[in-house]
Amino acid sequence: MALALVSDMLREADKRHAGIVGFNTFNYEEVEWIIEAAEAEQVPAIIMLHPDMAYFSNISFEAHAQMTKALAERVSVPIGLHLDHCEDFNEIMHAIKAGFTSVMIDGSKLPFEENVAITRKVVDVAHAMGVCVEGELGRIGQAANREDFLNEDIYTKVEDAVAFVERTQVDSLAVAIGSAHGFYVETPHLALDRLKAINDAIDTPLVLHGGSGIPDDQITIAGQNGINKLNVGTEYGHLLYTNTRKIMEEGLSPREDWMWCMGALKPVMIEYLRRKLHALSY
Ligand SMILES: [Zn+2]
Repeated sequence: MALALVSDMLREADKRHAGIVGFNTFNYEEVEWIIEAAEAEQVPAIIMLHPDMAYFSNISFEAHAQMTKALAERVSVPIGLHLDHCEDFNEIMHAIKAGFTSVMIDGSKLPFEENVAITRKVVDVAHAMGVCVEGELGRIGQAANREDFLNEDIYTKVEDAVAFVERTQVDSLAVAIGSAHGFYVETPHLALDRLKAINDAIDTPLVLHGGSGIPDDQITIAGQNGINKLNVGTEYGHLLYTNTRKIMEEGLSPREDWMWCMGALKPVMIEYLRRKLHALSY
C-alpha cells in the first residue's frame, strides 16, 4: 500500500496499547528486509533515515524515499517513512519535498522556549503539507556516557511535556527517561514512573529512543505505559555488521562475494526483525 502516515499508525497503536518499531536504515537491503519481515508478521513498521546516515552512506533523501515508497507498495501492512533527529529547518523541508511523510525536529539541545519555537515552525509547515512531526524534550544523549542516561536532571519533566505538546502541536514526543543512543556502558533502568506520569498528563504518543540494549522486560513495561514507537539503530546495525564480517571471512570468489553475502545474511536478519517487530507487543 501507499506509505502510511506515522501519526495515524501511532494513534492506532495507542488504541491497541501497543507500539511500532522504527529502524534506522541506510541502504536498499535493510529497507527491503524490514518491509518483508513486517509483511510476514502482519505488523506495521517505520523506516527511518538519520541525516548523518544519509551523509555517510551517500544516499539522497530522494533515493531513500522513492525506494521505500516502492517497496511499501508491494505489501499489505502500513509502512511509515520518517526522518530521524534533524536539527535544521531547511533540511527538514528538503526531506518533505523528497517524499518523507514524517519528520523529527530535534530541538532538545536548545533552551525550552527555542525548542518550542523551532518545533512549532516545523509543525506549521509540515502539517500544511500533510506530514507529521516528532519533537524531543529532555536530552537523550549517548549510551557511552553514564551521565547521559543516569542523570535525572536531563529527563523530560511532566509539566514541560504538557506545555510543549500544547504549544507545538507535535504528533509524537520523544522523551528522555533514562535511555540513550549507541552501546550502553551499563544496563539502563528506565524511569518508568516518570514515563507513566507523562503519559497520564498528555494524549500525544510517546517515543523511546536508544532502544538497543534496554532489557526486554523494561521495553514491555514502557510499551504498557505510553511508548508507541521504539527506535532501534545500533542493535540492527551491529547484527548486520557482525554477520556480514563472519560471512565475508569465509572467503568466496571476489565477484560473487557481495551478492552471496546478502543472500546468506537475509534469513538471519529477517529472523531478528520478525522478533523485534513485536517488541512493543504489536
Ligand atoms: Zn534517537
